[in-house]
Amino acid sequence: MAKEDKPIRISEYYGCDTFNFKVMEEKLPRETYKKLLKIINDDEKLDADTANTVAHAMKEWALDKGATHYCHWFQPMTGSTAEKHDAFVDPVGPGEVIERFSGKQLVQGEPDASSFPSGGIRATFEARGYTAWDITSPAFIQRSGTATTLCIPTAFISYTGEALDKKTPLLRSVKALSESSVKLLNLLGSTAKKVITTVGPEQEYFLIDKNYFMAREDLVMSGRTLIGSAPSRGQQLEDHYFGSIKEKIVSYMNDVEEELYRLGVPAKTRHNEVAPSQFELAPVFEEANVAVDHNHIVMETLKIIAAKYDMALLLHEKPFAGINGSGKHLNWSMSDNEGNNLLNPGNTPHDNLQFLVVLTAVIRAVYKNADILRATVASPGNDHRLGANEAPPAIISIFLGDQLTSIVESIMAGKVAKATDQAILDLGVSSLPILSKDNTDRNRTSPFAFTGNKFEFRAVGSNMSISFPATAINAMVAESIDFMYDAIKAKGGDVKQAAFDVMKDVLNDSKNVLFMGDGYSDEWQKEAAKRGLPNYKTSPEALKAFNTDKAKKLFSKYKILSEKELTARYFIHLERYAKIVDIEAVSLYNMAISQILPAAVKYQNDLASSIKKTSDILGDDAVKDQKDLLASVAAYIGEIKKGAEKLNSATKEAHKVEDEQAHAEFYCSKVKEAMNSLRDSIDSLEKIADNDLWPLPKYWEMLFLN
Ligand code: ADP
Ligand code: MG
Repeated sequence: MAKEDKPIRISEYYGCDTFNFKVMEEKLPRETYKKLLKIINDDEKLDADTANTVAHAMKEWALDKGATHYCHWFQPMTGSTAEKHDAFVDPVGPGEVIERFSGKQLVQGEPDASSFPSGGIRATFEARGYTAWDITSPAFIQRSGTATTLCIPTAFISYTGEALDKKTPLLRSVKALSESSVKLLNLLGSTAKKVITTVGPEQEYFLIDKNYFMAREDLVMSGRTLIGSAPSRGQQLEDHYFGSIKEKIVSYMNDVEEELYRLGVPAKTRHNEVAPSQFELAPVFEEANVAVDHNHIVMETLKIIAAKYDMALLLHEKPFAGINGSGKHLNWSMSDNEGNNLLNPGNTPHDNLQFLVVLTAVIRAVYKNADILRATVASPGNDHRLGANEAPPAIISIFLGDQLTSIVESIMAGKVAKATDQAILDLGVSSLPILSKDNTDRNRTSPFAFTGNKFEFRAVGSNMSISFPATAINAMVAESIDFMYDAIKAKGGDVKQAAFDVMKDVLNDSKNVLFMGDGYSDEWQKEAAKRGLPNYKTSPEALKAFNTDKAKKLFSKYKILSEKELTARYFIHLERYAKIVDIEAVSLYNMAISQILPAAVKYQNDLASSIKKTSDILGDDAVKDQKDLLASVAAYIGEIKKGAEKLNSATKEAHKVEDEQAHAEFYCSKVKEAMNSLRDSIDSLEKIADNDLWPLPKYWEMLFLN
């Protein structure tokens, strides 16, 4: 859309680049449209006729939008998205083509999948992978430079049907959670037929000048600075958070949002974050599968538009040491087909009972599976955040706020006995207080906080796909809901009474996960250990949770991931961990040897000749301090040289470790230790070296000059 004919109102162009329901209704024959709706809503099978009709309409629509190519857009285990473009054109004679797109091409693709991580699932002789159209997430038009492409969201599976991606398990988990929840809701008297998972991810990011980015091998290769001493001013003045947004940045945000609105992504909130040059974008929540796709589109759009402003987007969890890192708050809830948010305390005793039962199920789920939840956010980048007093600790606990805590305590004490038609007895009120957001949490230190009508999982990294964290929450909550359903059924008698009895037992059993205090404090570390809560500080340690019988049972019971699929993921994550740290180690080594040392030697040389000349004229006494400086520089040169060699041999040593778990652990310990010690020497040298000779943009420049 050219600038001049851009409609003024967002509502006029919102979603114009998506093949959404409105477009489908307009472009598809009535019967096909109705059938498609039924397929989407009732999870029915797609037939060839419908697929062909939709493909034709989608193609015509895309061609009108200027698209020349289409692609199956999928989410392999790399954590980002993948796409292979095919032109619509098909030769029909010499020098003659037509645009063609069949139902089969819409429904199924067959990319050569041999280069995507599979964790050993796909043998090399069977490299085929299939992409299958995800009918529930709208196709969209991607515009990049002069290219316009129709993107079709798809699942990615192996020849034998195993999930090779992050979408397939999520879709399976949404279905499992729906089935379990509907059963429980119906038992409690609701008429719900379907439950959806709702998700709203708040995305944090950094922006820096592109020239600085390009001048640093560490940023280009690993997305974070591996060296650099802290600037005099960080975030201590607290003037950036929610501060007025600079013109260039707010224009950037505006362009990002315009693009997102065209793609039907409901971007809602934009603001400066805590650290200098750090910002946040939050959308309005959506159904989980669409929200995950949209979060990928958000990350991609932030990156593309940054380039237009000569800026680089940093999505890494910790781009700058000593400066706050970036995360992604995963807001999560469930909603029934009648539009009720299941985590919204209602106005009637019935609604409140349902709310309390669901809340109890979530508490139990997180208590029983805290280790699995922790493992879903394990990555080298996130290791810098979790437990570093800027993000939640690696201990997974739940924050409920005062009001809810007192209600939960009453239930645990058996004081809230039952619900009648008028009231939840013994609480003395006809309905639960409306838990306004202000009443609940402003406790930023909790990894899993109840915030009025949803839970907020705050340990997700900024760079990560939110898909698996959401999948795992769905799985564990489905299991807990089933547990409670069975227990209530087993009690028999009045269902409300039984529900309260079960809640009492379950809450008492799970109460150790509840914590309302300061998650950053040392006391909490000790207290959590006493309570027996898991506290896995590093990713390799945390990832072991995927390789337990408990996890295998949980995911396979709900057909979300088979044992084989889950084990594959455990290995993929370990391997990725090792590879990422390896890339960092090699980049740091390269920079130390080819950039830092030569600059230091030059400075040493400058100092030495200056000392010589000065002492010739003024005598030895005049150069005493300069000599000290020279000695320091010479000492750092020695330290850096030795440190780089040590890092190099640690990396080589790491390559020899065969066992996957030990391999990742070696990187996490020996290689990272060598990196940290080399970094210390370089950062100390930076503080005394000639600024003109320093080969890298410094922290103060990157963070404050934009
Ligand atoms: P903050 O946590 O910074 O106060 P908000 O309360 O504005 O931010 O909301 C954070 C995110 O939570 C938004 O993306 C919002 O749409 C999402 N959210 C709100 N309600 C729900 C819900 N029922 N399910 C999932 N996400 C929700
Ligand atoms: Mg939040």
